Amino acid sequence: DRKKLKGLKSTAAVTLDGTAIELLANIETPGDVEHVKANGAAGVGLYRSEFLFLGRDDLPDEEEQYRAYRAVVEGMKGMPVTIRTIDLGRDKMPKWADEEAISAPNPALSLTGVRLCLAEPHLFRTQLRALLRAGLHGDLKLLVPMLASLAEVSQVLFHVEQAKEALREDGVAFADNVEVGGMIEVPGAALTVGHLLRKLDFVSIGTNDLIQYTLAVDRGDDSVSHLYDPFHPAVLGLIGHVIRTANQADVPVSVCGEMAGDVRLTQLLLALGLRRFSMHPAQLLNVKQIILNSDLKLLAPLASEIEQAPDADRVRALLDGLDAG
Ligand code: PEP
Ligand code: MG
Repeated sequence: DRKKLKGLKSTAAVTLDGTAIELLANIETPGDVEHVKANGAAGVGLYRSEFLFLGRDDLPDEEEQYRAYRAVVEGMKGMPVTIRTIDLGRDKMPKWADEEAISAPNPALSLTGVRLCLAEPHLFRTQLRALLRAGLHGDLKLLVPMLASLAEVSQVLFHVEQAKEALREDGVAFADNVEVGGMIEVPGAALTVGHLLRKLDFVSIGTNDLIQYTLAVDRGDDSVSHLYDPFHPAVLGLIGHVIRTANQADVPVSVCGEMAGDVRLTQLLLALGLRRFSMHPAQLLNVKQIILNSDLKLLAPLASEIEQAPDADRVRALLDGLDAG
């Protein structure tokens, strides 16, 4: 029950065999920090910064952005805060989007995420400046959405360096050591993650978009929602590949899509080797409870069976067997 669950707030997230699991929270505004703390998260794994750009006619300037990012970092008191750079387009169109963007035949395959930032460098640079400055006030990391290729990673890193150079020239203080991570949420990025990893400090798997693009199912379209299946072996195969590749390269990897907060999937993700989850704060204690009752020695052998399953039903059956056993 709720009260017992609340009691887990300060309990360490450790499996039965003694493996520590990192539980982080997803937020959309600085005001959410309160919920993050109330649920005992070890940090913010995904701050969706684009919410600062939605529902308004103007653009937030560097100062406004700096204040928002700084508020989150300071609010988290030294705990890690991963701020995602602007992820607009697709399901998140700002009021100022032009007609061309709004009427794109396939918004999900159009100028979205990092593509928009690279196409509008002033938009990106302003945000990067604000983020680098806010990095002085805590443990801030950058996370870049919707990457599809190594070339995009290189371009992002170039813009980060340019933003630093400009701040230096302006005599403005900033954090020089901010880590840059990439979201893996496009199948092409998942399949080539070994190459992307070499230029990134960490990766985070965005399962919401990864499912959409892997199964060609619009994540917001009710007419196909029955086909949007996180248990699909193609999805799990990609996730398994990313986790394994990152773990082998010793590059931190997390899942920050809805799958990370879905208690039906906690043991499955542990089996695939995941040790860092980022989710809606309201799910944190539920997931922790499962972790406290999980034994990696029993779960790890399931990984190959899960990834080789012919269909989602077989995956579900494997997990049900776990409960029964
Ligand atoms: C995702 O795609 O899984 C993700 C975390 O990002 P968003 O839901 O904001 O697209
Ligand atoms: Mg996404």
